[in-house]
Amino acid sequence: AAKNAGRNRYSYYTQAMQLVAQNRMSLSNDLHHALAEKQFWLAYQPIVELETGSIHKIEALIRWQHPKRGVVSPAEFIPIAEQTGMITKIGDWVFRQAAQQVKQWQHLYGKDIQISINKSPVQFRSDDNVHSTWFEYLKELDLPGSSIVVEITEGLLMEAKDGIVNKLLAFRDNGIQVALDDFGTGYSSLSYLKKFDIDYIKIDQSFVRNLAPDSSDLALCEAMVMMAHKLGIKVIAEGVETQEQCDLLIAAGCDYGQGYLFSKPLSSQDFESFLNRS
Ligand code: C2E
Ligand code: MG
Ligand code: MG
Ligand code: MG
Repeated sequence: AAKNAGRNRYSYYTQAMQLVAQNRMSLSNDLHHALAEKQFWLAYQPIVELETGSIHKIEALIRWQHPKRGVVSPAEFIPIAEQTGMITKIGDWVFRQAAQQVKQWQHLYGKDIQISINKSPVQFRSDDNVHSTWFEYLKELDLPGSSIVVEITEGLLMEAKDGIVNKLLAFRDNGIQVALDDFGTGYSSLSYLKKFDIDYIKIDQSFVRNLAPDSSDLALCEAMVMMAHKLGIKVIAEGVETQEQCDLLIAAGCDYGQGYLFSKPLSSQDFESFLNRS
């Protein structure tokens, strides 16, 4: 009986693995058509200046409206797009879409509106031309590079390859700013922040979720803010959901907040209504 039970467990396991693999295969097939079929759209979430409550920065977050599954989360499909190489085309689409949108919003709400775009480390590493394509597109749109913030993750800096350093420098030469996303979750090294001339760090949600007076997470947030400010780096806290978290972050000297307390990511239309209301 014990032997049978073992065999059953084994077959449940392989069945589950097969389902996972099949799911990925089918998502990967569908991803191939998603761009042409216009199934992607961008959601926009405000990044709020904590001291004034003003909104000049907006993060663009991709959404996939799957014909059968409904909205598929980027956490599910971005890794597949990275493994299959489709991330390059998707990343370019996001860039163009976001750049057009910020151009329009600058016209409506003021020239100082900036859009934050997530850039996959896979695309960052692989594509040598993407940068010049992006810079050309900005010229075409007559949009200054300072309208764009590129969000990258710590892992990329760890590699410290010349190619990566040069790509980051090219952003800077074109006026594009750089933010380190999910800060504190990787193998962050303080020396990288200085070396790469980062403009913003985004404190990861995991530090914000359980913020409370006298908590170790609060001590960590305070330390990150202090360190960043000494290096001339601004700080954005992610995943701010409650007023208490917001108050503690303000007291810690944090510059910006992003999260459901202010707004969920919204369609461009809903985002405009949100801005008009606030
Ligand atoms: P991220 O860049 O760290 O984005 C923040 C995530 O936190 C978003 O999830 C956002 O919807 C969510 N969020 C915002 N406020 C709150 C809050 O108050 N509470 C909680 N619990 N969550 C909050 P989303 O949109 O599902 O995106 C997940 C990740 O997918 C992003 O993490 C980013 O790494 C990646 N991603 C999204 N859009 C793109 C894209 O256009 N290109 C690439 N390469 N990656 C993207
Ligand atoms: Mg991000
Ligand atoms: Mg993040
Ligand atoms: Mg992330």
